[in-house]
Amino acid sequence: MMPAASPAPMIELRQVVKTFSNAAGSFEALRGVDLQLMPGEFVSIVGRSGSGKSTLLNMITGIDFPTSGRVLVGGVDILHLSESRRAQWRGSNVGIVFQFFQLLPTLTLLENVMLPMDYVGAYGFDERPGRALALLERVGLAAQAHKLPAAVSIGQQQSAAIARALATDPPLIVADEPTGNLDSRAAAVIIELFEGLAAQGKTIAMVTHDPTLTERTNRTVVISDGMLVNETVARAFPLLGHPHMLQATRLLERRTFQPGATILRQGEAVGSLFLIERGCVEVVLLGRRRSDVTVARLCPGDYFGEIELLRGGRSIASIRAAPDGPVDLLSLSPEAFRQLLESSPLTADSLAETVAARLRENRAHDRRRPGRDGGRA
Ligand code: ADP
Ligand code: MG
Repeated sequence: MMPAASPAPMIELRQVVKTFSNAAGSFEALRGVDLQLMPGEFVSIVGRSGSGKSTLLNMITGIDFPTSGRVLVGGVDILHLSESRRAQWRGSNVGIVFQFFQLLPTLTLLENVMLPMDYVGAYGFDERPGRALALLERVGLAAQAHKLPAAVSIGQQQSAAIARALATDPPLIVADEPTGNLDSRAAAVIIELFEGLAAQGKTIAMVTHDPTLTERTNRTVVISDGMLVNETVARAFPLLGHPHMLQATRLLERRTFQPGATILRQGEAVGSLFLIERGCVEVVLLGRRRSDVTVARLCPGDYFGEIELLRGGRSIASIRAAPDGPVDLLSLSPEAFRQLLESSPLTADSLAETVAARLRENRAHDRRRPGRDGGRA
């Protein structure tokens, strides 16, 4: 479920470019990234190895800087802080969890969890052990508090690393493949912890390779070759390869319709595939003798126009912006749509199924309508 929209994003990246240079030349790891994460959102970040996921997280945490562009976290431009202020800011505001957790091996779990509080001077000196123990209890490790990391399982070490990331009660948690090193049961424990934290209002950005985990987040951001895929494209066509998602992203055109506006008229030629980015539309079969029938409501991630583009022809229904709010559509040309289907037989198959189901649905509505005067193409 999406949290209620809030005017102030927790994280905002604007046109972030990151270029790494060395003797061999330069490499653009991020190529103009725009991203907003709202407070309380639990977002997964996916992409192939080398696509720029860790570089992106490093921009958010201020561990590294963009070559150009801006990074605002909780409204703070972290580039404009001095190094010591930034470290202090990070300690209080960001909890970081890595794949290969970095618990100090000579300290107990409890001592490890106390470290960040000591570092930023959070909470009174005497309060810290009790608070650390409460955090370990929250991740199911109270009984292990006085053990060294090597004396507990890998999954428990990762849970302790999460407790440590929570030590200063930061509003933002950033995790880079936090379950990459864990078996599925230990991974499930970690993801439940994150779900609980997001429910309490923490913003969580998590890089993962595991599709069973992305399903449990509010949003999935796909990065390919240092660029973000449009999230509506990724949602509408999850079976496309990331480079093809990116290609579609670059060809999209955005259009906005006011509530109730007609987007397509039944019987008119259809010139594009439309993806719904925001708001909902109503699919309406025009009444001939009786009133119009709304046969479906399509919302973000849904698309329309595919039937006509695939079969060639005129719109078999009218599409209107729903009365309850404006609609943002992304349109894709017939050529771009064809290329997309050719690049992904799985996507073509799943689209063919959607088309068949929608045609069945329309015919069923037609049959149910009294006074109809003929079949529909
Ligand atoms: P991911 O986390 O998605 O696997 P990264 O963000 O680590 O990818 O890296 C993205 C690209 O940037 C890779 O090609 C990587 O080799 C390159 N890269 C990352 N860090 C550096 C660096 N410090 N110097 C040079 N190249 C780097
Ligand atoms: Mg990485």
